[in-house]
Amino acid sequence: MKPPKFDYHAPRTLDEAIGLIARHDGGARVLAGGQSLVPMLNFRLAQPAALIDLRLVPGLAGITVDPDRIRFGAMTRQRQAEKSASVAEHLPLMTAALKWVGHAPTRTRGTIGGSIAHADPSAELPMVLRALDGEVVTAGPRGERVIPAESLFRSMFTTALAADEILIEVRVPRMPKGCAFAIEEFARRPGDFAIVAVVVVLEPVAGGAFRSRIAVAGATETVYRALDAEHLVSRGRVSADVIAAAAASASEACTPMSDPRVSGDYRRHLIRVLTGRALQRAASAAGPWLAR
Ligand code: FAD
Repeated sequence: MKPPKFDYHAPRTLDEAIGLIARHDGGARVLAGGQSLVPMLNFRLAQPAALIDLRLVPGLAGITVDPDRIRFGAMTRQRQAEKSASVAEHLPLMTAALKWVGHAPTRTRGTIGGSIAHADPSAELPMVLRALDGEVVTAGPRGERVIPAESLFRSMFTTALAADEILIEVRVPRMPKGCAFAIEEFARRPGDFAIVAVVVVLEPVAGGAFRSRIAVAGATETVYRALDAEHLVSRGRVSADVIAAAAASASEACTPMSDPRVSGDYRRHLIRVLTGRALQRAASAAGPWLAR
């Protein structure tokens, strides 16, 4: 298939990019790494009048380590984040999740901001952002604003970004020392989008207790946090009974999608199995402080 005709713009400043988007009044699409948008163009799933390529806009790529968080410029390539020592040190969950995102060639072009803005329900980076309570910064004709992850993902391929806004930064709180985590994913082939993916993070908090986070992707229109399951896990030791109860809770916390590939019932089964496995692996990795 071939893409429809479109005008191509490569603005040299963010203001110029914002102006171009406003001028096309909803008919333009931002082009980042193109790893999702270009296939959509070729399949005619997207037919924008214009593409606004962010490639030449300065200041949109790069990784910044703040005392409490890591900031990714929207155009930071996934591969750069995957290979970053700072990300590995302060956000080991993101380093681990990136290995599940497509293939090395797609990660070389694909961007952190593009994956978040694309909001594929099966994507791993929105799942990490949701699990770690991250946020994004957008810029548009009305200035900049910050959107927390819990209110960013609205439905399949739809975020809270306005049509005339550009996502310019992704912010993720640093993971405290001693955090244990696990990712479990079920996909047809390595590199395929997840049919269901689960992330578990166990974070030590004061007094020998800990806090858990459980995020599920691929099961519903957007990534979700299994809050009741988190509550079950955070009340005391992570025993086999607690894991089983939390896994069941996570699978009951949504109405899983059915599609030609997989039924909703099977997705519900996958949520329960993958959550149980991820909790077990995270608890084992947590080791000593969990035993207190
Ligand atoms: P683009 O494709 O350029 O854009 C995607 C969408 O986001 C477009 O609508 C665009 O307008 C919008 N957009 C992009 N950047 C911005 C911005 N800064 N502000 C506002 N809107 C913006 N992803 C996974 O998560 N898991 C996988 O397993 C996976 N497997 C893949 C396998 C293959 C073979 C391929 C080709 C892709 C796969 N992907 C997977 C998708 C890949 O990670 C894409 O890189 C990602 O989904 C989009 O990032 P991008 O930079 O390429 O964005």
